Amino acid sequence: MSEERVGFFTDTSVCIGCKACEVACKEWNAIPEDGLSLTAMSYDNTQALGASTWRHVAFIEQPRPDGRTQLPVVEGGSTAQETAVGGDGELRWLMSSDVCKHCTHAACLDVCPTGSLFRTEFGTVVVQEDICNGCGYCVPACPYGVIEQRPHDGRAFKCTMCYDRLGAGQEPACAKACPTESIQFGPLDELRERAALRVDQLHEAGVPEARLYGHDPDDGVGGDGAFFLLLDEPEVYGLPPDPVVTTRDLPAMWKHAGAAALSLLGGVAACFVATTGRGRR
Ligand code: SF4
Ligand code: SF4
Repeated sequence: MSEERVGFFTDTSVCIGCKACEVACKEWNAIPEDGLSLTAMSYDNTQALGASTWRHVAFIEQPRPDGRTQLPVVEGGSTAQETAVGGDGELRWLMSSDVCKHCTHAACLDVCPTGSLFRTEFGTVVVQEDICNGCGYCVPACPYGVIEQRPHDGRAFKCTMCYDRLGAGQEPACAKACPTESIQFGPLDELRERAALRVDQLHEAGVPEARLYGHDPDDGVGGDGAFFLLLDEPEVYGLPPDPVVTTRDLPAMWKHAGAAALSLLGGVAACFVATTGRGRR
């Protein structure tokens, strides 16, 4: 890695669900439309990350669980999510712009047989559509269910953190378009410091549920290059609570398989020697 590692800090407490990030991502990366279907159950009609949705603003529309704080006005922040909550305080909308996590230990990259997935000089993980052979190994390898194949040709696609823009010294299109700075882009260490301060600020303002997700370099994927400030448990946002790099056990498995193969070969050789010896007598 020749450049400083960069990433995204997505502060969901100030997301207003405008989906400007989704649109900017689609426009800059020339991503095709993905069905334009209406769910009839939610204002969120893109529904999930996928081959043609590299940013997805999840809307969690539900009755506010007992004991959960209604967001107060925070100095220097926005009142984004409490304006979306009914005045009676019974419902809540949580919004979170989800994306590829650009994992420190990226299983998608580990299993790619063609080198289509690679780690860039910025520490991000990029898939190259002209090298992908459509084998699909990366899809079950991702612990977050981020990467997907396009149905018509099987090639895999996901967020590249606007690799072309980074190369030109520009920030990713989603971060540039976000009107509330819910998506912040920059050097990862700097973002982690900023995120810790923001959590403190929210705790002081009476939002004890505020927490970081994916920021810890000691977690099961070595920390994410795209991490989040959440206002509830990760499961509420559809995120795995304790993600683990799915290729973690591969070296041990290969070691066991090698030992088993050696024992088998040893057994065959012993049988061969014994049979040959008997033949001579
Ligand atoms: S989130 Fe999934 S697709 Fe993105 S880098 Fe991690 S393993 Fe790969
Ligand atoms: S552009 Fe910013 S405020 Fe709008 S949906 Fe995306 S993250 Fe939320």
